[in-house]
Amino acid sequence: MTGTSHDLLVIGAGPGGYVAAIRAAQLGLRTAVVDEHPAAGGVCLRVGCIPSKALLESSQRLVAARSELAAHGGVAGEIGLDLAAMMKRKDRVVTTLTRGVSSLLKKNSIDHIQGRARLGGVDGELREIVVTAGDGEQTLQARNVIVATGSRPASLPGIELDGGRIGTSTEALAYGEVPERLVVIGAGYIGLELGAVWNRLGSKVTVLEYLDRILPGADAEIATAAAKIFTRQGLDIRLGCRVLGAAVKDSKEAVGCVVEVEGQDPIECDRVLVAVGRTPLSEGLGLEEAGVAMDEHGFIQVDERFATPAPGVFAIGDVIGGPQLAHKAEEEGMACVDGIAGGYVHIDYDAIPGIVYTEPEVASVGRTEEQLREAGTPYRKGAFPFRAIGRARATGSLEGFVKILAHAETDAILGVHILGSHAGDLIAEAVAAISFGASAEDLFRTSHAHPTLAEAIKEAALAVHGRAIHM
Ligand code: FAD
Ligand code: NAD
Repeated sequence: MTGTSHDLLVIGAGPGGYVAAIRAAQLGLRTAVVDEHPAAGGVCLRVGCIPSKALLESSQRLVAARSELAAHGGVAGEIGLDLAAMMKRKDRVVTTLTRGVSSLLKKNSIDHIQGRARLGGVDGELREIVVTAGDGEQTLQARNVIVATGSRPASLPGIELDGGRIGTSTEALAYGEVPERLVVIGAGYIGLELGAVWNRLGSKVTVLEYLDRILPGADAEIATAAAKIFTRQGLDIRLGCRVLGAAVKDSKEAVGCVVEVEGQDPIECDRVLVAVGRTPLSEGLGLEEAGVAMDEHGFIQVDERFATPAPGVFAIGDVIGGPQLAHKAEEEGMACVDGIAGGYVHIDYDAIPGIVYTEPEVASVGRTEEQLREAGTPYRKGAFPFRAIGRARATGSLEGFVKILAHAETDAILGVHILGSHAGDLIAEAVAAISFGASAEDLFRTSHAHPTLAEAIKEAALAVHGRAIHM
């Protein structure tokens, strides 16, 4: 394919890259996507969102069968665990979806090229992209390039990831046995989700967090309430822990790991999951040579149209920083392509939700109470617990509450935070409300079907005005 030219070449077929490519094809651009991995869908589909949610679902069903079925009148014998079957199901879910993305690329006549890409020189209005696969190398040309190379797990000094006992989310999505003792470093998204999976499957899970709270960035009241519930579920969450190192300890009796924490006794365990954030994949792409700027952490710097200073080179998704979320990458992919095609580029980052898929789930959109206080924004707060909602009583999912923050003068909704079952689905209403500039009154004057969990949102909106009905 040497010398072939495209209107747009996207490097990376993750949720940012493949969605950008499909949008470009819809707009009539001749488009190619290059990914070094044969399966399309990026981290999200292969080793991120999808396999983690498959395991969260399977492990929660096991918990429900063991501890909730009897109350509903279900009678079952002892419920065992077939971990291999659970992993096989997860792999099938992943394969179905990655193949689905490949078919979408094909259906949209997008050239899907496997190989590692880097930027080359400029030939008139065309940018060269060198793609290496196996021993071969080909040079493609494109009018525009979107870098959507995503991110990889970060580590800590003193920790050598051995790809086995001391590993990242990628290994923790595929352990071949239930570790007796698992130490998770970091109480963020990954630490809590995968910590929950292995806790449900029988591991003794210790979560070490550097800060004095879990889920930095989430509303503090919600995070504190969530931490209490997760502790009750069996997670040993230790805050204010500075991890100095972790190493594999190979003795005559057993192979295990030791985690060193400042000022504490070393912790022995069978596996360590390092979940302390993700680093942008911006190396080896020829970016500096092309004139693309990066910050001190390696995140590519872009303007409001996702353009870099290198003509025709754009970047989106995890590699440019901000919330490292699949739907944020997708939004940026679509907006960037709209801009390349001469259209309007706009993303409301205040309306990008974040969800932690534990049970109960933690979902939020907009400002936290801390952010409003810090900014000196006058606000009113309305909260409503699920335990006062009929549907929650019927399902038995009583934990958590909805919290709505609205401007004290205009009543505009500024933030919505939910801790509860299905919070990740419930938050969609709040995202739409914030996107359309709705007020708390708009929300409570909207009919909410009975009996649904969404009634807690209506009640919380009423509570902003001191008018909750069922409390
Ligand atoms: P990526 O998905 O990282 O895709 C980048 C692609 O670029 C990769 O396929 C890679 O192979 C390719 N690539 C990189 N360099 C090159 C190169 N030089 N040449 C060719 N190809 C290259 N987000 C959510 O919103 N919800 C979730 O539930 C969620 N769960 C997660 C669970 C886990 C365990 C992890 C690790 C992440 C999770 N995320 C979740 C985050 C989400 O996966 C990322 O935000 C998202 O994948 C970023 O999309 P992206 O397109 O920017 O990059
Ligand atoms: P994170 O940023 O969510 O959490 C990292 C945690 O590690 C933080 O609480 C941080 O304070 C802590 N930490 C940092 N250094 C530490 C140290 N030295 N010792 C102890 N704790 C330390 O990162 P993550 O959990 O690795 O996930 C990476 C990203 O992937 C997330 O930020 C998120 O964007 C994405 N993700 C999203 C989902 C989802 O949407 N449900 C799920 C998984 C991952």
